[in-house]
Amino acid sequence: MFKSLVTVLPKIVKKQFFQRNCASTLAFIESSKDGSVSRSSLSLLAAAQKLSNPITAVITGSQAEKTAQALKSSYACNNLEKVVIFEDPKLDTCLPEELTPLFVKLLKNNDYSHFVVSNSSVGKSVLPRVGALLDVQPVCEVTVIKDPKTFVRPIYAGNIISTIECPAEKKLLSIRASAFTPIMEGSMESVAIEKGTDIPPSDLDVIWVKTLLTKSERPELTSAENVVTGGRALKDKKTFEELLSPLADVLHAAMGATRASVDNGLCDNSLQIGQTGKVVAPNLYIAVGVSGAVQHLAGMKDSKVIVAINNDPDAPIFNVADYGLQGDLYKIVPELTEKLRR
Ligand SMILES: Cc1cc2nc3c(=O)[nH]c(=O)nc-3n(C[C@H](O)[C@H](O)[C@H](O)COP(=O)(O)OP(=O)(O)OC[C@H]3O[C@@H](n4cnc5c(N)ncnc54)[C@H](O)[C@@H]3O)c2cc1C
Repeated sequence: MFKSLVTVLPKIVKKQFFQRNCASTLAFIESSKDGSVSRSSLSLLAAAQKLSNPITAVITGSQAEKTAQALKSSYACNNLEKVVIFEDPKLDTCLPEELTPLFVKLLKNNDYSHFVVSNSSVGKSVLPRVGALLDVQPVCEVTVIKDPKTFVRPIYAGNIISTIECPAEKKLLSIRASAFTPIMEGSMESVAIEKGTDIPPSDLDVIWVKTLLTKSERPELTSAENVVTGGRALKDKKTFEELLSPLADVLHAAMGATRASVDNGLCDNSLQIGQTGKVVAPNLYIAVGVSGAVQHLAGMKDSKVIVAINNDPDAPIFNVADYGLQGDLYKIVPELTEKLRR
């Protein structure tokens, strides 16, 4: 008995020592169109800091060097040690079929204990693929990091908040950007920028045909300070645009929509907020003709101040609203816009 304990104990102690001291995080940082660091990646780094591990950032695509320099010279992230860039234009499209083999290789060849991505469309499509190839269950939409293995995430469209402990040796996390304040401005002179080589080829027969981008002068929906959202009550595309645009203009707000608005052709689906759309948490959220279905609330209920305009006094949106205006939106919205303009 004593003999077996003597042989087993050093192994246990060694394993615990290894786990405590060799923890490190690989963070996938996304570039914006102009080569700056995407806002969701700044929140991702804020979350990664909470893991208290040394962080390696990985940046891909032809703008990778520019993004890495911008990160190094304009922001402060406590545990960031180095940035590895893979400057290959074929990664510009962020096809998950191209990115996944690269991340799997990095995770297999290095002792990273955590791999973190933001809950952007790229992050959401890459993480399950990486999880499947490494045989690890990812933890998605993390909103709180309690310690390096305990995470909080919403389930059932945000109706239940679950705290889970992840036993996997390599933990794969997607971070809900709106739940973490982006890292502060500053500079990180000691951070090394390394060029990565040997990008593994995609083993799937997928080719990029073309990019169709929705052009908008408005702030990006998920990071906007103010959001004006239109529901089904706006009836058609013309009314949606004519009634909500002036209000969004005076508030320098992004425009959002419910799924009913999108399904009825009132606006583009990139505007959809909710369980199957985008998650936002702006300072001000104005819901116009929105009933407040649970699936919609899942995407906006963390907004700081919620204003609801609805003619039904029993509409569920009033349960989460800080200010409720009960009445006809066709009268209230132009009046409100005019008053804000003054
Ligand atoms: C699996 C699943 C996922 C879903 N995901 C999403 C999602 O991501 N996002 C999402 O939004 N929905 C989602 N939905 C749909 C959701 O259940 C609702 O159907 C949808 O949110 C309703 O949109 P709405 O509020 O625009 O329309 P409605 O529910 O029809 O509400 C319209 C509101 O406008 C008010 N109104 C009408 N006329 C006026 C007027 N003249 N003045 C003032 N108020 C007026 C009405 O009182 C009503 O409250 C999902 C559903 C399912 C099943």
